[in-house]
Amino acid sequence: MTVAAVEYRVEDLPPRIAKRITVDPESGCWRWGGEVGRNGYGRTGWQGRRWLTHRLAYVLLAEPIPVDLELDHTCCRPETCHGGGDCPHRRCCNPAHLEAVTRAENLRRAVRLTTHCRNGHRYDGANILIASDGTRRCVECRRAYSAALAERRRSWGVFMDNLVREHERRRGAANDARHPDSPAHSPDATPDSTPTPVGEVGEASGAQVGEG
Ligand SMILES: [Zn+2]
Ligand SMILES: [Zn+2]
Ligand SMILES: [Zn+2]
Repeated sequence: MTVAAVEYRVEDLPPRIAKRITVDPESGCWRWGGEVGRNGYGRTGWQGRRWLTHRLAYVLLAEPIPVDLELDHTCCRPETCHGGGDCPHRRCCNPAHLEAVTRAENLRRAVRLTTHCRNGHRYDGANILIASDGTRRCVECRRAYSAALAERRRSWGVFMDNLVREHERRRGAANDARHPDSPAHSPDATPDSTPTPVGEVGEASGAQVGEG
């Protein structure tokens, strides 16, 4: 994970390899679009040898892999991944998402992921949810996520309230400025201008609900 500071670029790979990789903008994963084995790892031939594509990319861009080390995909999300051949992260070739670890460490991590979520919360009776797709979800992480979402909505609501208040203040100032200039028009202007801010406020709060 210490290598994560290094910015690797797909275009530094040989074109034959690079053209089969799609970068996922959200996760930063380099998804191999070529041949994939049943275990979920990308495969390709390179200079007369068969390679797992994530190992090849690591060797070409980062550093040689010591013979006794394996590459761990740190981008894998155990809450949503079964850790098997259907894990989309196994196709990831981004060296910044790979960490060379001993087989023992890799196994230790895999075992830990069966008992803890990625954030280290223990899966036990009360802290585990089975989603409709059969994967496990951490209750504590979901709770934290909901709280963060509620906080975001709350601050967004305050932002909208301030915006409306500022809008009304400016409109009020503009009306105050207009009234002394045209006192004769004020009886007409008042019924016209009064419903307008109300309608705008209504629309603004409608948009807020829609986006939330
Ligand atoms: Zn990745
Ligand atoms: Zn995964
Ligand atoms: Zn968790």
